[in-house]
Amino acid sequence: MQTDEFYYDLQEMIEYAESLPPTKRSVLKFAAKIFDPIGFVTPFTVILKILFQCLCTTNVNWDDPLEREQLNRWKRLVKEFRTLNQVHVPRCYFQVRENLSRTHQLHGFSDVSDKALAAVVYLRTVHDNGDVDVSLVASKTRVAPIKSQTTPRLELMGALLLARLIKSIVCALRSLKVSPEVILWTDSFTTLCWIKNNRAWKSFIQSRVKEIRELTSEYEWRHCPGECNPADLPSRGCTGGELSECDRWWKGPLFLSKPPENWPVDPQPTRNDQAQASLELLKNPPLVTHSLSGPARSTNSVIIIEKIIDIGRYSSKIKLLRITARVLRFINRVRKKSFDLLSLKLTADEVHEAEVLWIRRIQSSVFSEEMRCIRSGRFNVRVKQLGLFLDDDEIIRCEGRISESHVPDSAKQPILLPPKHQFTEMVVRDCHNIVHHDGIRETLNCIRGTYWILRGRETVKKIVRKCVSCRKFEGKPFATPKDPPLAVSRVSDEPPFTNTGMDFAGPTYVSNTQPTQKAYICLFTCASTRAVHLELVDSLSAPSFLQAFRRFSSRRGLPARLLSDNAKTFKSASKEVTKILRSAEVR
Ligand SMILES: [Zn+2]
Repeated sequence: MQTDEFYYDLQEMIEYAESLPPTKRSVLKFAAKIFDPIGFVTPFTVILKILFQCLCTTNVNWDDPLEREQLNRWKRLVKEFRTLNQVHVPRCYFQVRENLSRTHQLHGFSDVSDKALAAVVYLRTVHDNGDVDVSLVASKTRVAPIKSQTTPRLELMGALLLARLIKSIVCALRSLKVSPEVILWTDSFTTLCWIKNNRAWKSFIQSRVKEIRELTSEYEWRHCPGECNPADLPSRGCTGGELSECDRWWKGPLFLSKPPENWPVDPQPTRNDQAQASLELLKNPPLVTHSLSGPARSTNSVIIIEKIIDIGRYSSKIKLLRITARVLRFINRVRKKSFDLLSLKLTADEVHEAEVLWIRRIQSSVFSEEMRCIRSGRFNVRVKQLGLFLDDDEIIRCEGRISESHVPDSAKQPILLPPKHQFTEMVVRDCHNIVHHDGIRETLNCIRGTYWILRGRETVKKIVRKCVSCRKFEGKPFATPKDPPLAVSRVSDEPPFTNTGMDFAGPTYVSNTQPTQKAYICLFTCASTRAVHLELVDSLSAPSFLQAFRRFSSRRGLPARLLSDNAKTFKSASKEVTKILRSAEVR
């Protein structure tokens, strides 16, 4: 392999173009057949685009033969197409020089003519020894809009084309972990003035400037003289022959291969340029104000309080209302509605106003449908069922059936609240505290003095169940652990009293003697059958126990194991028995 470069083999395309009849359809067919995604030959292809746009504006039918002038342009185009064969583009952006590190810059240029807009981007690589490589990365063209625009406006559209192109290139390079410095050049002072000045331009300018500022930084934009601008070529178009020879196109303007000191400096814009830019200023720019709430009107109804205060941050209703009242006081002061707030303390009216505001906001967001139906008088199940209506404060209330009773008015017409809302939760907790953590029914009664919560009992139950104080008092102790399995001796299939437990019960009193005597019951029980054998003993002494045991064993047989509570009597009896067993007579 001798070289690594792109080149065009266009023989087939040329034959195809020559076979086409000279019509509008052929121009489009041919233009659509050219695939140049990087934009190497945009200075040539743009001529084709311009010709097609020209045909579109002159109302030529698709299959009509072209008129003389346009026919000549078409023929010239096909002929010049051949010259693109001479174009060779190296695939490498820069030569790798061993042991040298490099820095990269992207230089974008935009330019326009009355026919087309163009943008072109170069990669400038500076090696550590000062060598510079510049190569074409991509270019893009658009035909100028059919509706004629002033040249400065076209220049701005060109700048936007460049901003979009450079953004896509920067994104592509980022995936290769290269983030070069970006410098963008335009030869229009007016465009620079629009991009760099944040003023109230007319909407055509404003929207494009906004997008350019989002895609690029205003500090990346610089001015370059028109004669150095390589984007001039695709904005006007040139022949294939010119293109293959044109160093300015393939290598960028001459200044790019020089150090930055030799680059064009930003000259001061002339008075004419400034005047041109100012032409696009809005006559009556809107006054920009930063508002905490909605637009000012006479009532607080437009204050979107939930955007100012995050209700989720508060657990107590009164705290929320006090903070809201403070915020409202601030808003009123800023709006200069009232100056007579001499006291630092909040008044009851202010807290009430805060509550009304919150309820109104909650109702208008949750019960918007009901609100519409009440206002328009349309039928709605819930409105009918609960007898909903709007009071003087624009709050939805329920019309119950107790209007004739002597309860307060707020209980006769309670305020409607949704079941699932932080504010409702606060109301429930508040009432639960008022009734001193009494049950669900009492809490609900307290709530219904002012509010009507949809699915109230269920909601209250859910919230009260979570109440820590109630849980502390009503909670059950820890459950006793599960009983362990019975011992083998308790469940084995053996004769009764093989394993025997024993204990004393009593005292009992024997009345047939004077004075009455104490007596005890010695109790033997079988561990597996729970059969019981009782012996009466006159004292808890070891001898009387041994006697009782002797009677027991004579009657029931000698147990294999005896279980006791280790009382002193049993211990001394055990010693006694051991002594007897070890005595010489027994042995
Ligand atoms: Zn409680």
